[in-house]
Amino acid sequence: MHRTHTCGELRLADLGKTVTLSGWVQKSRDLGGMTFIDVRDRYGITQLTFNTDDDESLRSQARELGREYVIKVTGTVIERSSKNNKIPTGEIEIKVTSLAILNESKLPPFTIEDETDGGDDIRMKYRYLDIRRNPVKNSLIFRHKVTQEVRNYLSALDFCEVETPYLIKSTPEGARDFIVPSRMSPGQFYALPQSPQTFKQLLMVGGLDKYFQIVKCFRDEDLRADRQPEFTQIDCEMSFVEQEDILTIFEGMTRHLLKTIHGIELDQFPRMTFDEAMRTYGNDKPDIRFGMKFGELNEVAQHKDFAVFNTAELVVGIAVPAAANYTRKQIDELVDWVKRPQVGASGMVYAKYEAEGAIKSSVDKFYDQEDLSQWAAITGAQVGDLILVLSGPANKTRAQLSALRMELGNRLGLRKSNEFAPLWVVDFPLLEWDEDSERFHAMHHPFTSPKLEDMALLDTDPGKVRANAYDLVLNGNEIGGGSIRIHDRDMQALMFKHLGFTPEQAQDQFGFLMNAFQFGAPPHGGLAFGLDRLTAILGGQETIRDFIAFPKNNSGRDVMIDAPATIEKAQLDELNISLLRTQQ
Ligand code: ASP
Repeated sequence: MHRTHTCGELRLADLGKTVTLSGWVQKSRDLGGMTFIDVRDRYGITQLTFNTDDDESLRSQARELGREYVIKVTGTVIERSSKNNKIPTGEIEIKVTSLAILNESKLPPFTIEDETDGGDDIRMKYRYLDIRRNPVKNSLIFRHKVTQEVRNYLSALDFCEVETPYLIKSTPEGARDFIVPSRMSPGQFYALPQSPQTFKQLLMVGGLDKYFQIVKCFRDEDLRADRQPEFTQIDCEMSFVEQEDILTIFEGMTRHLLKTIHGIELDQFPRMTFDEAMRTYGNDKPDIRFGMKFGELNEVAQHKDFAVFNTAELVVGIAVPAAANYTRKQIDELVDWVKRPQVGASGMVYAKYEAEGAIKSSVDKFYDQEDLSQWAAITGAQVGDLILVLSGPANKTRAQLSALRMELGNRLGLRKSNEFAPLWVVDFPLLEWDEDSERFHAMHHPFTSPKLEDMALLDTDPGKVRANAYDLVLNGNEIGGGSIRIHDRDMQALMFKHLGFTPEQAQDQFGFLMNAFQFGAPPHGGLAFGLDRLTAILGGQETIRDFIAFPKNNSGRDVMIDAPATIEKAQLDELNISLLRTQQ
């Protein structure tokens, strides 16, 4: 038998028991007469002792153990003379009577401690060692708990977990597909799904009524920070529902997670339209844990001789709490910050609300106290606050001020990781103009239903049509999003037409779905949560990496197994890939 107990289990109540433990050597100390070994497994650490009464071969065996050796020991549980109250097993130790080395270990390339000396790259290369560390191990166990609670909640509501295929057909809409060559059909390719979207809709046509799946999705995009080319969604779909039904069920799921995981009970989640989110936070996923709402200043700033404002499409400001005493140097630093190419503002105006009737601005030449007090009223500034104002084209300026607001939120410690502020953003636009291709794209995806009352605008002002689409935002991150779908063949055909597909292209790429809609497709809708991000936020972390057992790095590489990699010529030949290359 390898063990009677785990290394995290024994307490004073077990004194006198003969036990067997197996695990890894965390560390060993040789103090003349005594040798101490800490043995570790997933559950904890237990101290082993060997002393001069023990037979010499046992002690010398103990002295030879290196870090991370795998051992099995048998001995008696005794009370420690110097107790360690930092660990649950700290009141006992094991007086060892037999020791076996189950496997030796090379010296690990970094320390297996909560705070390790290993940098990111080396930790990823030896991820199996990294997983032995508490922060990573606990994150994976935490993720398991989140997925288990998701399954509990949805299963109790009769959702049925169904697996959909990973080898599917490439579709041009959305991100770039990962492609898999087919050996049996030379010259033909599968694609890996960007999401199970069409399959879950077909499950609704199949009458399954309530579906979910915890599923890998694949998107071959240029990687942005903290994105993974393969990631996991909690993917859901329901039949005979309206938007309100979906919001209720999945607000319930989020509440269930916060309750079971953190013991937090939240009130009903607030809702905001996309337009309002853009106007008040410059962002469709606002972090509402803190204020600094946008105040639009066009009306009160465009009546003087300040050309910068007068020629701008939008003049907009925020009030930074208790920052009126910022020094010139601090303000200059903020101005430099918004002028960095990543943010791209051309300049910034400020006004310090030092006292009633004493607002000092960088544009005092143009604006008097009465003007500035209107700025204060509109941005919600109080005495002691600092008003920061950007101007320019509306969309760009909103994005810049949003970046500044988030930066200040971080710097001022307003984004507390143990505080949870969910928000539904609703009424997204159906279509989004794409400058590069000079045509409209579906903002969510082409299966999203427009709001019926906006249908007439499809021909006259397509950018104004709103969709039955919604996102769930948590602490400034989009953690879920979905829509009510089109379930009518003609409506779906019309949508493809508006997205620039010819009827042949639409039939070729999505004929399977439109055909299915002719066989009694029920009204349906759904959403998907990003499990990696949701777990990280619930775990109070900024990055998703430690919640993924084997993540890829920022260039999409798995540095442990060294993928992607070249393959043998014989494999290429079998896949007809070299053949294709010579034909082209
Ligand atoms: N399939 C969508 C996505 O991946 C989610 C949904 O509409 O349900 O974003």
